[in-house]
Amino acid sequence: MRKGVTEQPSSVTKVYLIDDEPDILFMLREVVELVGLESQCFFQADAFIDEVLDFDGNNILILDLQMPRVDGIEVIRHLAKMGNPPELILISGQDSSVLSGAENLAVAHALTVRGTLEKPLSIARLRSLLAPLVAASTAARSRGDMKSAVLDFTAEEVRDALDLDQFVLHYQPKEEFALSGASKYSAECLVRWQHPTQGLIYPDRFIALIERQGWMPDLTTIVFNQAIRQQRQWQSDGLRIDLSINISASDITSLTLPETISRLLADNELDTATITLEVTESELMGELTTSLDVLTRLRLKGLCLSIDDFGTGYSSLLQLFRMPFSELKIDQSFVSKMVVDVEALAIVKTCILLGKQFHMRVVAEGVEDQATKTMLAKLGCQAVQGYFIAEPMSADALAQWMKFESSLDT
Ligand code: C2E
Ligand code: CA
Ligand code: CA
Repeated sequence: MRKGVTEQPSSVTKVYLIDDEPDILFMLREVVELVGLESQCFFQADAFIDEVLDFDGNNILILDLQMPRVDGIEVIRHLAKMGNPPELILISGQDSSVLSGAENLAVAHALTVRGTLEKPLSIARLRSLLAPLVAASTAARSRGDMKSAVLDFTAEEVRDALDLDQFVLHYQPKEEFALSGASKYSAECLVRWQHPTQGLIYPDRFIALIERQGWMPDLTTIVFNQAIRQQRQWQSDGLRIDLSINISASDITSLTLPETISRLLADNELDTATITLEVTESELMGELTTSLDVLTRLRLKGLCLSIDDFGTGYSSLLQLFRMPFSELKIDQSFVSKMVVDVEALAIVKTCILLGKQFHMRVVAEGVEDQATKTMLAKLGCQAVQGYFIAEPMSADALAQWMKFESSLDT
């Protein structure tokens, strides 16, 4: 039984995060921001104590217990002396007795503990701890008729767009280095909202909202239907274009996804091997067992699977490489500066080595110049994607582009 949990606050104004491990801190911040809450990060507990002098009664603090200098227990003692202290989510990499000891201590100090998390962290569990707060916060926001940067469209507007079929796909070419008999170019499907008055809207302005509302399966269905219809059209025009489609964590927790996709492909007489599904690394670890089940059956049905944004997530390499991936996509944050930044270059090289070791195709995304492309080819990367090859474009433009590029190659 959870001790010390009270009613949800009416509106969470800010989530504070303290963890001395940068990749964990950034991962936590990503989850907090993805669910639409404001965050402030601290690597050191003393900086938090010095800087945050008061709370408004609607704050959350996600607190790592093991830290150099000032540790989590000292933070708990400090909070006990303050007015309107935040609710706590406690994190620890040690055994669960450390967490329950700290939780008891906090409750003894009359603090509220919303939950505890053991490292390696479960993103799904963190999300479920934050979810009720998001609902409360969103309701309060709409009551106050406030518009935040994250929520610049309302849920109703996005729901209408889904119902009225206002989402369209653009396609960005991926170029293969090593020709293995297959076509030299494939493309990634990137969704856009063709807004009736505001023009083309990019995913950063609606994906998080769709995810939060639980409407991702609706968007994924729309994307799949369009992609497959388009692929069939190209095929009947004599053009084979393999496609990559982005799916999200909520898609891979649906056990019926493999059947839905393979039926759709069969109905359209398309080969499953022409489709690659991209899942971002940070989303994979949520419900590990369910994702493993769904991903394995997708592979059995012949689809290719790609780990997107590789290098940015927080996941155990061992867990990751036990999953049935066929492609690894190095995140653009490393690729775009690999020519000038030795650390970025080291990460890119490591990703390519890992890919080779685990028999995965390695794709680099965010390639913006010739120097980067040349270096990637030398390092043994199999394919590249980025503005230097081509920007995302409409289906018609892609067909033209492919024909033109192929005419140059022959
Ligand atoms: P992503 O899957 O990592 O897609 C790559 C993003 O990088 C795209 O942004 C693309 O336009 C952009 N990009 C491509 N080349 C370059 C380059 O050389 N430099 C730079 N700086 N950027 C480049 P976009 O289209 O805005 O998509 C953003 C994200 O939204 C995607 O990131 C993906 O996570 C998500 N997304 C897009 N379409 C879908 C979809 O159909 N379903 C789902 N679940 N997510 C989607
Ligand atoms: Ca992608
Ligand atoms: Ca990516």
